Amino acid sequence: MILNSIYAILKEYNNPSWSKEKIKNIQLSKLKKIVNFAFDNIPYYQSMMKELNILPVDISTVEDLKKLSITTKNDLRKIDTKEYTFGDLNKLIKNTTTGTTSEPFSIYSTNNEFRIRQATELRCFFKNGYKLRDKVLFLGPIYPPYKNQLSKIGLYRRKLMSSFTSAKDQIEFAKKYKPNILRGYPSCLKLFANEYRKQKCDFLKIKSIFLGGEVLDDETRKILEDTFSKNIINIYGCWEFGRLAYECNEHDGLHLNEDMFIFEFNDTEIKEEKEIIVTSLFSYAMPLIRYKMSDKVVLIENDKKCSCGSNFKKIKSVKGRVGDYYIKKNNEKISVTNLTALFRKYVDIIPTQYKFIQYSLDNSEIKYIREKPLSVSELKKIKDAYELYVGKINIKFSKVENIPYDKSGKYRYFESKIKN
Ligand SMILES: [Zn+2]
Repeated sequence: MILNSIYAILKEYNNPSWSKEKIKNIQLSKLKKIVNFAFDNIPYYQSMMKELNILPVDISTVEDLKKLSITTKNDLRKIDTKEYTFGDLNKLIKNTTTGTTSEPFSIYSTNNEFRIRQATELRCFFKNGYKLRDKVLFLGPIYPPYKNQLSKIGLYRRKLMSSFTSAKDQIEFAKKYKPNILRGYPSCLKLFANEYRKQKCDFLKIKSIFLGGEVLDDETRKILEDTFSKNIINIYGCWEFGRLAYECNEHDGLHLNEDMFIFEFNDTEIKEEKEIIVTSLFSYAMPLIRYKMSDKVVLIENDKKCSCGSNFKKIKSVKGRVGDYYIKKNNEKISVTNLTALFRKYVDIIPTQYKFIQYSLDNSEIKYIREKPLSVSELKKIKDAYELYVGKINIKFSKVENIPYDKSGKYRYFESKIKN
């Protein structure tokens, strides 16, 4: 098991230095393989191709991929899991975006595919100065991160602190653990850095900071640089695919993992922001071909080899979820990425169908769009969960017809009405 993991890392470690031509050739041969496989084994793609009157031989260049239809999470939610997966579901590794009581959306992978996902994350770490014995403090998700075989041999050692713990507690924990690498949501690490400065701490020697899960804004980057380390590595990933892109030590954009995925970019209403469509080249248990992401990206047009040695194309930035803060009764700020996701743990709903609004320290409202109103048992579970994390507060749940986007055209899943 462990040897397989190490092999997976070594195998892909040097891929970023492939020539542009080699990248394209390898993408094409992997693409043909996965399209063939999907056509032979996956009912969802079988019927799509039949409807479009396309055979796998019609995909003879990477550009031909455009002949297939775009798929969204909602398209897959509507059909039975068996329609878009391959193999015995009980034997596959299942990752659920946020568990729900009704119909969770899960990503299935084989052990080997799972190792590839891990290896892609570790490649980014190793390329950016990470060493075998480093200690990582992970600030963010409430769910435990993937089980990690590698930690058994002292590789990728990490401790997790939930973003629901206060920054003060996180500082106390860090004092004992003494990590030299920080990892987590930008919003959590910003709170951590602010508390560290407030307490005039000086006990951490941080080598690098790896961020992901939310958009990294300039202000957060600056605070983290000034407090801990100039080596900030922004990672762009998602549940469906794992790591899609990462910043290199040039700190000028994020390299797309072109050995693992094919990326397409479509125009949006805002000129520089592109819609991102991803095809996984290694997921056979659950092939995702031309899968549309909800985030938007800004491209870097320059196609030269990066001075870090990578030939993988770069994106300048990702426009997606921005980390915001909820203020607890004791005036403590907590990152809302988990807070809002908590709702989805109990309700089968997509992010643009609900909004968390904080009116005061005591009063909040969750607006949601759904056919049926929340049941009594759903409400109880949600209320209990919120009480556990933010204390006793009044939350009003309102079933609404629509939730407007804000002036900039972005969907905000959290809004605070509390003036700073
Ligand atoms: Zn680079």
